[in-house]
Amino acid sequence: MRKYVIMGVQGSGKGTQSAMLAGDLDLVHISVGDIFRWHVKNHTKLGAQVRRLVAAGELVGDDLVEDVVKDRLDLHDWNYGFIIDGFPRNRRQAEFFLESYDIDGVIHLDLPDEEVRRRVLARRLCSRCGMDYNLIAHRPEEEGRCDVCGGELVTRPDDTPDALARRLADYHDKTGPVLELFRRKEYVLTIDARADKLEVQRTIRARFNLPPYRGDG
Ligand SMILES: [Zn+2]
Repeated sequence: MRKYVIMGVQGSGKGTQSAMLAGDLDLVHISVGDIFRWHVKNHTKLGAQVRRLVAAGELVGDDLVEDVVKDRLDLHDWNYGFIIDGFPRNRRQAEFFLESYDIDGVIHLDLPDEEVRRRVLARRLCSRCGMDYNLIAHRPEEEGRCDVCGGELVTRPDDTPDALARRLADYHDKTGPVLELFRRKEYVLTIDARADKLEVQRTIRARFNLPPYRGDG
């Protein structure tokens, strides 16, 4: 059984690295963000609550996140372990988590704020089919047009410089104390997330004595 926490700001490649780890190791990837998005999309009661918070420009509270994570872990469908993303959000939760689950390590994908801004502000979304683009890594063939459906490419509403600055400040406020606690217990592997994704994955696996990554195919 292997249990990891992955931490990193948006755009740091958390989702990609988690998926690469989860695949052949049969870990369950528990992403708090994905759980909330699922609830919003499926119009659950929790989804309505999250939608109201976001519309009011607020962030989802730590207690709500904690409830969702507890419910998710209580399903016990993670026979080979899990990799959790988006939790813990404060010191108290981190202490509780360390007492309740015997975690193997914390993967901290470190990305300078300047690089986060560069990556996030380059994101575009097709207004018709929802396809994701990135003006750095995945440019459309014709500027401002979707390759798939020809729809207009737009910026996500929450990808403005102001909104991003708020999210970055919140991220540093929250993760600073949590990382400090984990560091004191010597759990943390900090990786420069600007490196190539395969290089990042290799570093993670070497540090935690995991079998080498064999690729997607
Ligand atoms: Zn499209």
